[in-house]
Amino acid sequence: MSTPLPLTIDQIHKSARQLAQLRPSYAVMLDFYEAVFTAQEKSKGDIDLEPIQLSPETLANRGPEGLALVAVADFRIDPAASERLLKTLCELIIAHATQIKASAAAVSDALASGSLQTQDLFTGLLHSNDRLLQDTAAAIGAESTALAFLAYHSLQPSLELCAVQLATYLDTAAVWRKGHCPVCGSRPGLAVLDAEGRRSLYCSFCRHQWRAPRIFCANCENTRASELHYFFSEDEKDLRVDVCNRCRHYIKSIDQRALARPVYLPLEQITSLHLDMIAADKGYSGGVDLNLEN
Ligand SMILES: [Zn+2]
Ligand SMILES: [Zn+2]
Repeated sequence: MSTPLPLTIDQIHKSARQLAQLRPSYAVMLDFYEAVFTAQEKSKGDIDLEPIQLSPETLANRGPEGLALVAVADFRIDPAASERLLKTLCELIIAHATQIKASAAAVSDALASGSLQTQDLFTGLLHSNDRLLQDTAAAIGAESTALAFLAYHSLQPSLELCAVQLATYLDTAAVWRKGHCPVCGSRPGLAVLDAEGRRSLYCSFCRHQWRAPRIFCANCENTRASELHYFFSEDEKDLRVDVCNRCRHYIKSIDQRALARPVYLPLEQITSLHLDMIAADKGYSGGVDLNLEN
């Protein structure tokens, strides 16, 4: 991997502070997400996961289609650690008075009274069981989108650790010529150009990062340079939007050649929402839902 994510809490903090100075309109959002990502990072020390063993046959059968190592539903999670993180996240949301405060309070009450079965909730989320999510939310008096946000962010440390373990089956130095994450099959949420101009893509579901072709649309796998362009603002040379004029999709890109600050990709994704709006105004689609990229 060319640009590993800085994983320490101190680095998340430095990245958040610098982004808040650069883009003050995101300051409140940054305070909140710094707290969320810090809680996730702390939770990792608390997680116990059995490694996923992939047989040589499974690996060999990925074939020329370039299948992902596993499906999202195959990820292992630590339900007890995730439930503890869920409680912490509810407290954070209530303290930061975000829009989903009322739902967080409802989840918090349901956890305290034992009326929320978190194991079912987490499994349902991994299986994209929208019905279960909606029924659970209705039963405890929360919004289903808020419940999905909370459940996903509670699972995230397990997902990330699981992806790190699975990535040991991959040749991470090789360029992956498919548009999906080689670990979980999700669409990338960001592109990164490293200091040498090598391009990688970042999965906002499992946070795996992989080498990708420089001229390449991750949506339609187009490699025709005449149809692939990018735009950027003179004020923000470290950010650009790569667009494909064949499928009209875009992906935001962090250009580390133009940047001298610590990078924590989950924060970069959040503090570049203005680019999603510009891309949409120009008629491109493809923004990734930050909370449920799946
Ligand atoms: Zn992934
Ligand atoms: Zn395309």
